[in-house]
Amino acid sequence: LRQAEIKKTKTVCTYCGVGCSFEMWTRDRHLLRVQPTIDAPANGISTCVKGRFAWDFINSKERLTRPLIREAGPDGARFREASWDEALNLVARRLVEIRDTHGPDSIGFIGSSKASNEEAYLTQKIARLIIGTNSVDNSSRYCQNPATKGLFRTVGYGGDAGSIKDIESADLVVLVGSNIGENHPVIASKVKRAHKLRGQKLLVIDPRKHEMAERADIYLRNRPSSDLALVCALTRYILDHGLADEKFLAEKVNNVDAYRESLAPFTLEMAENLSGVPQDQLIEAAQMIGRAGSVCLLWAMGITQHSQGADTSTALSNLLLVTGNYGRPGTGGYPMRGHNNVQGASDFGCLKNIYPGYEYVDQPAVREKWAKAWGVPPEALSDHFGLDNFEMVAEAGKGKLKAMYVIGEETAVSDSNAASTQHGFENIDFLVVQDIFLSRTAQFADVVLPACPSTEKDGTFTNTERRIQRFHQVMPPLGDSRPDWQILSELAARMGHDWGYTHPSQIMDEVAGIADLFAGVSYERLEGWKSLQWPVAEDGTDTPLLYTDGFQFPDGKARLHPVQWQAPAEDADSEYDLMLDNGRMLEHFQSTNQSGRDGGTKPMSPDWFVEIGPQLAAERGLEDGSWVRVVSRRGALELRVVVTDRVAGNTVFMPIHHVKPNMNRLTGEHHDPVVNTPAYKETAVRIEKL
Ligand code: SF4
Repeated sequence: LRQAEIKKTKTVCTYCGVGCSFEMWTRDRHLLRVQPTIDAPANGISTCVKGRFAWDFINSKERLTRPLIREAGPDGARFREASWDEALNLVARRLVEIRDTHGPDSIGFIGSSKASNEEAYLTQKIARLIIGTNSVDNSSRYCQNPATKGLFRTVGYGGDAGSIKDIESADLVVLVGSNIGENHPVIASKVKRAHKLRGQKLLVIDPRKHEMAERADIYLRNRPSSDLALVCALTRYILDHGLADEKFLAEKVNNVDAYRESLAPFTLEMAENLSGVPQDQLIEAAQMIGRAGSVCLLWAMGITQHSQGADTSTALSNLLLVTGNYGRPGTGGYPMRGHNNVQGASDFGCLKNIYPGYEYVDQPAVREKWAKAWGVPPEALSDHFGLDNFEMVAEAGKGKLKAMYVIGEETAVSDSNAASTQHGFENIDFLVVQDIFLSRTAQFADVVLPACPSTEKDGTFTNTERRIQRFHQVMPPLGDSRPDWQILSELAARMGHDWGYTHPSQIMDEVAGIADLFAGVSYERLEGWKSLQWPVAEDGTDTPLLYTDGFQFPDGKARLHPVQWQAPAEDADSEYDLMLDNGRMLEHFQSTNQSGRDGGTKPMSPDWFVEIGPQLAAERGLEDGSWVRVVSRRGALELRVVVTDRVAGNTVFMPIHHVKPNMNRLTGEHHDPVVNTPAYKETAVRIEKL
């Protein structure tokens, strides 16, 4: 091909929170090449296998290209194609009817963590301004909400403390319940390089011996659900043995004495009993943390998807405060964001308690500001928190939530206890799903609206390091599909709010004019490979490293927040004697709606399995390839065994991508009571040989 025939467009990967940007080289709808560049701020010349090869879904024959409306036929309910006018008029009419009959809080919205920041903003704008409810959420409920809570409690912002560059430059990287080798591969490659070439130390705490654990200087293999006790015991040891940063604590942190006292129960002996990690290894780890010049601590679903996810996240941030590891280059807490724009979906208001920029809906001055900006009286906006994902599905099951609008999320598959979630969707009066495929969630819908992937529209995403980046339209929408922001704008117009947006840049300008956190964000400042890390001042100054001038509390001081250990909501017993760990695989993404289509990375990893440790396998007479039934209190799945020392003891592991049948038939409704995140990792199972 002659160069002139090749179109080169900058875009941002949609597969994880690293936020790799690169050029897509295309001819018509054919993707010829993914070309990273040294100018890409998060990744430079690196990408992983998904970013490079997992794009066949864009031209999949299974893409939705026309709106669909459910209708009852002689052979049961089925979908028929409809025009955009008919579908949007129906959605507008039904939402208004339900709002006027049952009240604003009878409708819930789930925004997409894969859609753009601008689309997240419009999702919550329709919910809050037109419907009058704060019942809007996104998939961070299933992953990062506990981590955000831990950071809000202790340091004031919920985002990563610094940048990927800080992780690279730290003296010590601590990974707790985070398998970055498969889930955030480009960050993993930077840590591997720093470890090998610069002598950066690596400490891994995880029940599963993944690739990064194999590389660690110290690897603590703890029992599932013991993290809070282990982390608090390390913190107590550091305080008791002169390894804390007392000057930092005295000058920059509140509640130090009460926190010291709260650690009394967390002896090394207690931590050893609960975690199974010998005391000498705990001491070695505590000394490594206490003596390091700079520490970055990364955590993910291995911590958050527990009934103590928020408290364990709090304990991790406490540990960083005690050792003075905030506000300097190479330090800080880094909850690794899973979806590419789960950070942005939350930042731009798809949460039940905040407007964009983390402004609380129950504060009168905040409500007044947003009402004025949107041209309505403050009374038009709800003054109380709405429902989150977890509560919406539960209320739908009880018949109290009458309608839901789900954008780009596989809630029917991703929520825990799939049978209960399915009941919620079957029970709801009116369900709208906006997606690029007829997902399992869409199959419950009354109206399905065909949306576009990021390659077919303009917008911005925000990655795990709070970095806002522009992505550009690579190719036109497929068939009659439309960008989510256009669909939402057209729906709003049909409900009496003609906002007149003709480009997403106008939406970003509107947000920047209202939310202080994004005051200086504009498309001009994001041109080319430029990016901005929030908070962004009006003059465009951004913030790669937080807390250099104090913490995000009125007195500028951080707050140590005591926590207590509690037993997991579900534990192994004589009937269900094993604990099921679960997580993502390098080649796949979540429910595989994108990575599971033909082509792409699917052939690299075409099937699912259960990992069993060698000793357990020998005791049960199992070997590689044996078929077993994995049974929990809620359901059962049949699959093949992989015998590996990645797992040990009574822990077994399954990829989360097992959706036919759904892995969440096994998981339960128990959750973290602080943030309602399902405790996916607290699932007791037994294994039956087939
Ligand atoms: Fe995409 Fe994440 Fe891979 Fe980067 S590391 S290419 S953002 S999946």
